[in-house]
Parts: sequence; structure tokens; C-alpha cells
Amino acid sequence: MRGEIVIVGGGAGGLELASKLGRKLGPARVMLVDSRLTHIWKPSLHEVAAGTLDAHQEGLSYQMLAHDNGFTFVYGALTALDTQTRKLSVSPVLTPDGEQILPERVVEFASLVIAVGSTSNYFGVPGAQEHTISLNATEDAERFRLSLLKQLAQADAARGAGADAHVNVVIIGGGATGVELAAELYEASSVYASYGFANLRPERDVRITLLEGAPRILAPLPERVAAAAHKLLTERGVTVVTECRVTSIEAQRVTDSKGVQYPASLCVWAAGIRAPAFLGQLGLPTNKGGQIEVDGMLRVKGFTDIYALGDCAANIGPDGKQVPPRAQAAHQQADYLRKRLLRIATRKSPGEAPYVYLDYGSLVSFGHRNSVGSLMGSLKGLNFFVDGLFARMMYASLHLMHHAAVLGALKTGVLAVARFLIKRSSPLVKLH
Ligand SMILES: Cc1cc2nc3c(=O)[nH]c(=O)nc-3n(C[C@H](O)[C@H](O)[C@H](O)COP(=O)(O)OP(=O)(O)OC[C@H]3O[C@@H](n4cnc5c(N)ncnc54)[C@H](O)[C@@H]3O)c2cc1C
Repeated sequence: MRGEIVIVGGGAGGLELASKLGRKLGPARVMLVDSRLTHIWKPSLHEVAAGTLDAHQEGLSYQMLAHDNGFTFVYGALTALDTQTRKLSVSPVLTPDGEQILPERVVEFASLVIAVGSTSNYFGVPGAQEHTISLNATEDAERFRLSLLKQLAQADAARGAGADAHVNVVIIGGGATGVELAAELYEASSVYASYGFANLRPERDVRITLLEGAPRILAPLPERVAAAAHKLLTERGVTVVTECRVTSIEAQRVTDSKGVQYPASLCVWAAGIRAPAFLGQLGLPTNKGGQIEVDGMLRVKGFTDIYALGDCAANIGPDGKQVPPRAQAAHQQADYLRKRLLRIATRKSPGEAPYVYLDYGSLVSFGHRNSVGSLMGSLKGLNFFVDGLFARMMYASLHLMHHAAVLGALKTGVLAVARFLIKRSSPLVKLH
């Protein structure tokens, strides 16, 4: 198999790049490799975990996107790379019983873009990997949702039998992922209770605790946003503990450095990310967090036609700061590489202008009617605090903008209307 431009990883950045290049260059020249068959925009995984977004309805088929946008889709995981012969290996695809559906394949490339995202960084905390769920992928969010549903049903049955029962959710990490999940879970628990859990009183029976090591939650965001988020969480009955360094995690309990123990029937790790470990075996330069080191033009250091973008890339900006692992950055980098690779494909000079990250602000979702955040003004250093329904609408528009980039404006509009109508004729949370 051969692709002139091969993109590995069809997430927030890679899929936008493949779709936009595919529309210009076509399937003979653009190829996308992904280890999954469907795409979900990663920032919505907390909604999948809480059950307020149905992964089966939300997931976009890569085969459909390839057909509609004009790229070739290869299903399987990148496992090895030979930079000399410009070939990469894609893993075989097996059924859950181990039967082979697709064999291992070798893909030749002229230009390669690695966009495989990130995974959890457990910082060596004992028990973290074994006893927590992270929101790295749809499977993780679904595992959390099913576990939550089971525990809600068990608590409801126990309450019905007169016993004292709680669902204790502990979220470790007070960044955007942890805060959004806590808020979404609060909203979802009362919805679940209204669907047949007659004995469950969420405000009494579902306890959500958010543990953060720093002096405040949402540490990279402006203080006003963090304070507003803290207030909204505590108003919703979420226990927020700051300056809490988790030292060990067991099956039903989290312990911090002061010896405080938090009961945890369901524990989420949202305390840090790192690049997937296999990147360290590809023969490319990586930093301490396993991210691939790239230059200002997103070229992997030491190579001219291998690029990396998004969470898996260590890109130091002209200001000396590393570009943060955010969907906003992945989107901008995809757009930068789209222009660069199109110029190369049409035999024009790509130029030497580096990619420069532009921070347009951050929005943190608080369920389906509220968000808080800050938007950057066009003047440097100026930012505006936003909250309420307006902020929520802006947050939703980011998801729609990603859909528009990969589906086109018309299909995004049709899908948005269809989903609005489906929501009115189906339960507000996924119950199966
Ligand atoms: C719950 C949650 C909320 C978030 N909220 C926000 C937010 O509000 N704003 C924001 O800016 N950011 C947010 N983020 C961060 C944001 O999701 C990421 O920064 C962004 O998705 C990174 O994009 P990416 O393209 O680098 O990787 P991803 O979007 O993670 O995509 C990686 C892709 O690579 C594929 N892949 C992985 N390994 C392989 C392999 N070996 N071979 C082939 N394919 C592979 C995966 O299947 C996936 O499709 C949030 C993240 C989470 C988890």
C-alpha cells in the first residue's frame, strides 16, 4: 500500500487534516490510519462517560468520512516505522476471540504526519493504573458509564431494601477533564434517578469528590474562571479538595499524602497525560513525557518529511513555551500542515514560516445549560470572562466547528437538527 501523504491518528487534529487534504488531493494521494473504526471528538468523552451522549449515535465512521472527503482509510494501529525505507507497519485486526480479520500491512509514504494523541500519566502512583478509569478513548468512557449504571442500580436496590448505600465517585485531577466530568455527573445522576430508580436520591446517594494537587482547580486558566467553576461545583454538592496529593489507590479507596482516605466505588484518573509509550520505539526523538520533538514547522527533529501534531507532539513556540495539549492546538496545527502539505503536493515552496499557537481562550462545560471560561481579545493579555447559556452555546459551537471541518457545513447542520429531534424522542441519558 502507498500513500503520498499518510496521516496516522484520526482525532481532533489528524481527521481534520485528512478530510481537508482529501477534498483537494483525493484518495490516491491521502491516507488516514486509525486503530478504531469510528471517530468521537475527544473533548466530548466526559458526556459519553456520564451517559448524556450516546457514543453509538455520536461516532462518525471513518469509512464514511473517507468516502465523503476523498481519502483512503486504513484500519489498524501503527506499530513500527522504518524511516530509511519510508515504510510503516499497521497491526493486524482481530475479533475479540482472536480470529484475524485483516493481516499486518505495510504502508509506504512520501510524507508522514503522526497525530496519535495522548494517554494517561499515572506519575507512578501505586494502584492508579489498576483501580482508575481514564477518559482516553470511547471504550474508557463507555466502561465508566456501564460501571456507573451498575452502581446506581445496586444502590437503588439496596435503598429499596432499607440499606444505606452510596455511589462514591472520586475524580483525581481538577483540570478541564475532571471539572467537566464532575459537573456532567451531577446533572446526569438526577436524570438517571428519574428513569426508574425510585429509591435513589442523587443528592444523598451519589457523592462526587474532586481531588486536585494544586492550590486551585483549573490551574492554567484565569483565577476568575477557576473561582467561578469552584463555586458552581460546590453549589452542586461536589466536594472539591485542593492541595491534595494522592499517594495510593486501592479497589475502594484513595489515600492522600496527609493520610486522608476517600471512599471510591468509582475512581477516575484525570491528573495528567503523556504520549503513548509505543512512540518511544519508533526511532524518533522524544521528550520526558514521550512526546515527539518537532521544530517550528512541526517537522520531527532530524527529518524533513515526517511531522507530528497535537497531544503527541512537543512543539516549543517562539515564546519558549510548549504548545499545550488541547483540541484548539491540534486544530490549528492541522490547519498549518494542511497549507504546508498542499503547497508541497502542488510543487510550490512551503516557505519557512513557523506555526504559532494562538490562544483564543478556554471554555469549561457545566452540563447542558452552563459553561464558564475566558475568551481572549485581539489585544495581547486582554481576556473576557464568560459564563451561563452564552458560554454554553460557544462551547457547543466548538464541537460543531470540528464536525463542519470533517463533514462539511450542510451535513453538520442536518446532523445537528437530527440529533436535536432524536434527543426529544429518546431518554436524556443512555440506559443500556
Ligand atoms: C474529557 C476531555 C475533555 C477535554 N476538553 C477539552 C476542551 O474543552 N478544550 C480543549 O482544547 N481540549 C480538551 N481536551 C483535550 C483534547 O481532547 C485533546 O487535546 C485533543 O483531542 C488532541 O487531539 P489529537 O488529534 O492530538 O489526538 P486525539 O484527538 O486524541 O486523537 C488521536 C487519534 O489517534 C488514534 N490512535 C492512537 N494510537 C494509534 C495508533 N497506534 N495507530 C493509529 N491510530 C492511533 C486514536 O484512535 C485517535 O483517533 C479534552 C480531553 C478530554 C479527555
